[in-house]
Amino acid sequence: MIKKLVIFGVGLIGGSLAIALRNAGYCERIVGCSRSAENLQRAVDLGVIDDFTLDPSDAVKGADMIFLAVPIGAMRIVLEQIMPALEPGAVLTDGGSAKTAIVEAAQAVLGDEALARFVPGHPIAGRERSGVEAAIGDLYRGRRIILTPLESTAADAVSKVDAMWQATGAVVEQMPMVLHDEVLAATSHLPHVLAFSLVDTLLSMPQREDILRYAAGGFKDFTRIASSDPVMWRDICLHNSAAILEMIAAMQTNLGEFAALIQQQKGDDLLQRMESSKQARDRYVAQLDAG
Ligand code: NAD
Repeated sequence: MIKKLVIFGVGLIGGSLAIALRNAGYCERIVGCSRSAENLQRAVDLGVIDDFTLDPSDAVKGADMIFLAVPIGAMRIVLEQIMPALEPGAVLTDGGSAKTAIVEAAQAVLGDEALARFVPGHPIAGRERSGVEAAIGDLYRGRRIILTPLESTAADAVSKVDAMWQATGAVVEQMPMVLHDEVLAATSHLPHVLAFSLVDTLLSMPQREDILRYAAGGFKDFTRIASSDPVMWRDICLHNSAAILEMIAAMQTNLGEFAALIQQQKGDDLLQRMESSKQARDRYVAQLDAG
């Protein structure tokens, strides 16, 4: 049980955690904090949080759990704001999509004691919509939460964050942060960059009006994730840049190979590559469907 949970950034990720924990009866009080009173008042009106403050020091007073759900670029400033007011024993965690940069910010800002109570985390769940209006209570049900604790992270802090996420119906796993950033660069960050880049490429073409008019289901499916929040994705690109650049380079090599096969009219080779891709994708979807 959590007595006072403070959420910095009551948007999709923070708001969904609040609703899920409230539904589970897991928190006595949930307080929101960010820069905009209007957004926080909306969160109170929607019943997502109990109350709010714009003062970070005031927010963390008496809190036993603090969840950072702001864009990655804002994590360090929030850590700096709350550091002097953290209660001894309070557990700090986050939901940012890239872990190494956030851990580096925490190492720079928090002293050893507070750092030991910081449990980096990332819910592998999301939607294209953002903001508190998009928050839903079952966003995390059955989804994976990856925690990337350091060797110095206190075991009881990890257990408390683990238990909090389990109360939302999520499945909690642990992974080294560097591996997390490499895996997510491949499975999530590269696909988002590709979706944004495809739309951007088409927009730069003189015949863009015709292209978009005749775009069909394939275009809609492939570019769905280009409707995601640009601020969040800018921050992910800037804060997981090495792993993302490595994936972009691998993709460029592969695209170059496809281009060469098309140019050389090597139909058998093209077919073989497409067949193995189709089989791998079909297997992956079948596994997902099987739960
Ligand atoms: P969101 O836009 O829905 O919510 C972000 C909230 O942070 C907003 O309420 C905004 O007012 C607040 N905020 C922005 N800058 C701030 C600042 N400087 N100080 C205080 N508050 C500030 O975004 P989201 O989708 O909930 O993403 C939040 C975090 O969760 C990000 O770090 C993101 O990487 C991570 N995440 C997102 C998804 C997803 O699919 N959306 C999935 C997993 C993790």
